[in-house]
Amino acid sequence: MTTATVHLSLSDAHALAVRILEHNGFSAAHAHAIADTVVAGERDGCASHGLYRVLGCVHTLKQGKASGDAEPAFHRMAPALLRVDAQQAFYSLAYQQAVPQLIEIAREQGIAAMGINNCVHYAALWRDIEAFTAAGLVAIACTPSHAWVTPYGGSQRLLGTNPFAFGWPRPDGRDPYIFDFATSASARGEIELHRRAGKPIPEGWGVDEEGNACTDAAKVLRGAQLTFGGHKGSALSVMIELLAGPLIADMTSRESLAFDGGKGKTLPMGGELVIVIDPKRFLGEYADQELARAETSLFKVMEDDGVRMPGARRYRNRAVSQQQGVDIPQALFDDLNALL
Ligand code: NDP
Repeated sequence: MTTATVHLSLSDAHALAVRILEHNGFSAAHAHAIADTVVAGERDGCASHGLYRVLGCVHTLKQGKASGDAEPAFHRMAPALLRVDAQQAFYSLAYQQAVPQLIEIAREQGIAAMGINNCVHYAALWRDIEAFTAAGLVAIACTPSHAWVTPYGGSQRLLGTNPFAFGWPRPDGRDPYIFDFATSASARGEIELHRRAGKPIPEGWGVDEEGNACTDAAKVLRGAQLTFGGHKGSALSVMIELLAGPLIADMTSRESLAFDGGKGKTLPMGGELVIVIDPKRFLGEYADQELARAETSLFKVMEDDGVRMPGARRYRNRAVSQQQGVDIPQALFDDLNALL
C-alpha cells in the first residue's frame, strides 16, 4: 500500500511552517528560526525532526509553560564561556544568535563553551554542529531530554534520549564528518512515527510498563526506552545528563519531565552544552597539515574501504531536496493545516 503524500518546495514548506507558527502565537523571529530548523530536517530526510515537529512546538506553546516571543539574553561568564538564557522559549532563535558569538570566541580563545539554558529543545543536533564545521571549527554538542530511558540494569525512567553530536571540518569543500545520535537505542520521535503508522518497532528499543522486552510502539511509549550499547550507552547518557544539566545549572531529563507534570506531552525544557575548538589556534602553522593528515590517515582509508560516512545519507537527501523539494505524508499535511 502506498501512503499518500503532498509535494512541497523547500520555500513552500518554510512558508507553511512560519504561517502555522505565527498563527499559533510565535513571534516572527521565533517562527522563522523554528521553520529554518524543521525545514532543514525535512530537507535532509530526517522526518522525525522535520515539519512534524511544528505540531509539537505549537502544542508545547499552548500548554502555557513555554514562551513564543522571549528574546534570548547573552552573558559572557569567562573569556571562553558563553551562557545564553533562552528565557523558556524554543532554542532555535537563541542558537542562531549565539553561533556568530561562539565562533568569534573560539577564534579568540582557541576553545569556547556555551550553555544554552531554559530552552525548549526539539531538534536534531547535527544542524547545530554544521554551523561550526562550516567555519572550520571542531564541535561537540549534547542535550538531555525527557526521562524516557532506563539506565542499564535499572527499571526506572531516569535518562533522556540524550543526543550527542560531533563535527570535524574537512578541507577542499568536502562534506564535514558529523555524527549525531540519540544515546537511546532510537530517537523517541521514531517510535512516535511507528505508532502513527501502526508499525512494530525493532527489538531492543524498549520495554513495556512491566519492564518486558516489547516491539509495540504504543506500549514502549508508556514503558521505557533502552540505551544503545548496554552499559556503555548508559554511561554516555549519564555523562550528557551531567554536562548539559548540573554543569550548566539546568534541568536533568527527570526534572524536565517533572516540569511537564510527568506527562511528557510537551517538548523537553532544559539546556544544551556546546564545545567548539579552533584547529588553527590549537595547531598554529601546522593546522592545514594536520587537517590534511586526518584526510589521508583516516577518511581516505574509510572511503576507499567503502565505509558509509555518517551524514552521507543526509547530504545525499539534501542535494535532491534542494532541486526537487520534499514529499510529506498527506496525514501530516492535514494535521499541520488543522492548526491554521
Ligand atoms: P540515527 O541512528 O538515525 O543516526 C545516527 C548517526 O549515525 C547519524 O549521523 C547517521 O548519519 C549515522 N549513521 C546511520 N547509519 C549509519 C551507518 N550504517 N554507517 C555510518 N553512519 C551511520 O540517529 P538517532 O535515531 O539516534 O537520532 C536521530 C536524531 O534525533 C538525531 O539527530 C538527534 O540529535 C535527534 N534527537 C534529538 C533530541 C532532542 O531532545 N533534541 C532527543 C533525541 C534525539 P545520517 O544522518 O547520514 O544517516
